[in-house]
Amino acid sequence: MADSGQVKNIELDVERAAMRRTALAQIRQYPDPVLRMRAREVEVFDEALARQAEGMIALMHDASGVGLAANQVGSLQRMFTIELGEEELAQAIVNPRVTPLGDELEIEEEGCLSLQGVLVPVERPISVRLEAQGVDGKELMLELDGLPARAVQHELDHLDGVLLFDRTTLEARREALAVLRPRVVLANSR
Ligand code: ZN
Repeated sequence: MADSGQVKNIELDVERAAMRRTALAQIRQYPDPVLRMRAREVEVFDEALARQAEGMIALMHDASGVGLAANQVGSLQRMFTIELGEEELAQAIVNPRVTPLGDELEIEEEGCLSLQGVLVPVERPISVRLEAQGVDGKELMLELDGLPARAVQHELDHLDGVLLFDRTTLEARREALAVLRPRVVLANSR
């Protein structure tokens, strides 16, 4: 099966599954308000930013994710980490700007590390140009198609406080909320 949005479709052995649960416990879950906030432009490219990026890449790997936005670890820096190809080739993307290339759209199911158990159809441009900075402040520009293009759009949404609910059909949104609601009630009653 293909990866979907932010979540990899892979079978995990027992050890990896335990590691994933531990990682997910460190990732902010819906309805945490930080997931609805807009992250701010990064202006200082220092050691602390580099350390945060390293931590996010490690957490993303442990969670078997293909991307992770700063909001999801409770930080409002405009930064996400992402795998744009090979498993180990993860990188931090800072102050991203995404422009669709062409007007072709595609609907694919997407999952999210902050919305566990939810998989909803989302329509997005197939090809995009990503302009951003690296964690060292250097400008970068990438043209992406297919899954990587979808993944950067998903991450950019997080930095704008946008979640999958906002991009799916009314019916899928209702179903997703039904999956999440019992957990919300449990979390509130603790
Ligand atoms: Zn997500």
